[in-house]
Amino acid sequence: MEQHIGFFNSILRANAVIIEHEALKDYAKDCTEDLEYIPQVALLPSTAEQVSKIMAYCYEHNLPVTPRGAGTGLSGGALPVNGGVVISCKNLNQILDINTDAFQATVEPGVINEVFQNACKEKGLFYPPDPASKGSCFMGGNLAENSGGPKAVKYGTTKDYVLNLEVVLPNGEMIWTGANVLKNATGYNLTQLVCGSEGTLGFITKIVVRLLPYPKENLLLLASFNDIATPCRAVNAILKAGITPSGLEYMERNAVDWSMRFADISLDLAAETEAILLVEVDGNNLETLYQDVEQINGILEEYDCSNVFFAESDLEKERLWKVRRVCGEAVHSHSIYKEEDTVVPRNHLPELLTSVKAIGKQFGFESVCYGHAGDGNLHVNILKGEMDDEAWNKTVKLGIREIFEVCKNLGGTISGEHGIGLVQREYMDVVFSVTQLELMRSIKKVFDPKGLMNPGKIF
Ligand SMILES: Cc1cc2nc3c(=O)[nH]c(=O)nc-3n(C[C@H](O)[C@H](O)[C@H](O)COP(=O)(O)OP(=O)(O)OC[C@H]3O[C@@H](n4cnc5c(N)ncnc54)[C@H](O)[C@@H]3O)c2cc1C
Repeated sequence: MEQHIGFFNSILRANAVIIEHEALKDYAKDCTEDLEYIPQVALLPSTAEQVSKIMAYCYEHNLPVTPRGAGTGLSGGALPVNGGVVISCKNLNQILDINTDAFQATVEPGVINEVFQNACKEKGLFYPPDPASKGSCFMGGNLAENSGGPKAVKYGTTKDYVLNLEVVLPNGEMIWTGANVLKNATGYNLTQLVCGSEGTLGFITKIVVRLLPYPKENLLLLASFNDIATPCRAVNAILKAGITPSGLEYMERNAVDWSMRFADISLDLAAETEAILLVEVDGNNLETLYQDVEQINGILEEYDCSNVFFAESDLEKERLWKVRRVCGEAVHSHSIYKEEDTVVPRNHLPELLTSVKAIGKQFGFESVCYGHAGDGNLHVNILKGEMDDEAWNKTVKLGIREIFEVCKNLGGTISGEHGIGLVQREYMDVVFSVTQLELMRSIKKVFDPKGLMNPGKIF
């Protein structure tokens, strides 16, 4: 690598070329288990043109390139498994435009999701995709993973907002994938192909998204249940009643307890509570929202809900959402875990949950589940605890495969929003045929014939 550093120094500021071992550790991990891969160099460009020059050089010299956002990924996508060059989005962090007439915005990939959401809100506009990690994850990472979040049940995921992307291809060439329009039936949809491609097809340097008017009001309640599967049945009943909440989140009791401890928040839950639902409705008419809440209350009662807590103030809402948002970190602080991002048609969630627990018993692991119940997206966190490495690396994987088989048989798949990255690629055969996988590999080859762009991911 030493021979290449001179080139990188010639196009970037001195502090944007990182080669010291200790400093490189910041680019070696994400939030996936305890995995660590140290790159040979990390580069922090601040313009798309610099990214293009770096990528052209790496292509010519056969250097593997791994794009990196904030490193909050849960499938190991940003880990430089083959060493080489990490290109960080950290200094590509400008909100370039928020257009209140066109309801569109253009941002660089290093903008933090929440910073962007707040900037939109100040102008009366709404960017709904809000991963629980919104306070730290970057827009580029969100695009690359097609991230979701609690609001997806009503508003959809990142793919539903992206209109156009500026992308640097592996050989350094720069393209726009589409046009800044709401409708587009012009040729293959390169924008949607790059969205969710996990940094394996190119480096995203600009993102154009559509925006909505900001909903003025919201109401939030927490419902407690004395068993783990009934809340998932209630979720479906709420939607079938014609109400589309802006959040329908599920947490098992352990997840709630650990999150409360982690965030130093206390909620008054009965000893018998086994699981909770957070239900949020939003809109512009408060009276209609209260009617929705009344109807939801009725449905929750029918589904044996033991208690409903209604958040009376913004502070109470914030506290409830915080318990949900810190959940991943809380579980992580409890034990090393493998987080499976299972997703099934919503009506099959109860069967998925029951199967996960039965498979855990069979393979000897404990799991704690939470997630976006309104989307049928359940995060199954398998805890390492005191398990030895042999069991963790072999037996648990057999159990995960079983869980994914269940997902497939219920009409679902193996990732709803976290992507395949490094850690899920060995399960791709559960849901894709040889022909399907070959088609995907062929697409990858067209973009990246030398296989240098985020190698070791997806396939
Ligand atoms: C506590 C916690 C809660 C979470 N909650 C949610 C949630 O509710 N919903 C959800 O969907 N996810 C969630 N996540 C997962 C994670 O935050 C998302 O996947 C997020 O989008 C990753 O963004 P990042 O900037 O951290 O990307 P990174 O982890 O740095 O990278 C993720 C992938 O994007 C690629 N990439 C990054 N930037 C670019 C670019 N400019 N061009 C091309 N490829 C790029 C990387 O190569 C990698 O493959 C959560 C994670 C944590 C730790």
